[in-house]
Amino acid sequence: MNRYEKYKRKIKRYYHSISRYKLKLKRKVLKLRNIILEIGISKDEFNLMTPSAKAISYPCHLGILFIGDFQDNLFPIIRRHLLGIYGPFFYEIHDLGKKDSLQSFPGDSFKKGIKRELKEEQNAIRSLNLHPTKKFHQLLIEKQKQDNIDVILAITDLPLYSSYDKQIIFLFGEANLKHYCSVVSSFNLKEAFYERRQNPHLFEQRIIKESIHEVGHLLLGREHCQNEFCVMTYSTEIEGIDRKSPHLCKMCFDKLHSRRVKYNL
Ligand SMILES: [Zn+2]
Ligand SMILES: [Zn+2]
Repeated sequence: MNRYEKYKRKIKRYYHSISRYKLKLKRKVLKLRNIILEIGISKDEFNLMTPSAKAISYPCHLGILFIGDFQDNLFPIIRRHLLGIYGPFFYEIHDLGKKDSLQSFPGDSFKKGIKRELKEEQNAIRSLNLHPTKKFHQLLIEKQKQDNIDVILAITDLPLYSSYDKQIIFLFGEANLKHYCSVVSSFNLKEAFYERRQNPHLFEQRIIKESIHEVGHLLLGREHCQNEFCVMTYSTEIEGIDRKSPHLCKMCFDKLHSRRVKYNL
């Protein structure tokens, strides 16, 4: 073996040990990052990061909680529509009552969750408080325990922004699959938001579609449907919600059916 070959081998060996150290270091950094993430967050927030302790089997109990000012006849309407599509999955859909939107979240703990980049905007529009979905999910997880309910859908008149995707503000709704809870915001489902005359029927239709959509995520998964008329399509604008139907397309229906088979429903 000539000198050149010898050096080549030596370099190769060094290279291998360096990449081993690199991997080791990477693992350590990851571990450290997780520790840092855990510091300074509340127990509830940490719970949100960990998988749900209980696994749900269907049929189960679904509860609807209203956070804000809603008409009493809304619950039976939503219940009827949800049962029409997801009936076999639920023993019953319960009315968990109404909560005052301002009293639901203690003001100070809330502000901590507001993202920095929204602060400027917030200062400009003092009256407008966007609410991170994570805070809702936190509230719903507590409610699940309190009321012994498996799955919760919250309907609120507060404006939402996504805790999970910084790009999304003025969200129509978001589901937390890990913790079996969803939230729908009626804030921008009202015609008044678009500076148009009130339309109670249209408002009701939109809330129904979004409720079916968010409960649909809990049963079908987080994916959206490409069919723009399917209730499981992703709508970023109100026109999209008005365009879609309150029904599942054939593909989503088949998916739901396979879930039924899985749970023997
Ligand atoms: Zn969705
Ligand atoms: Zn579909």
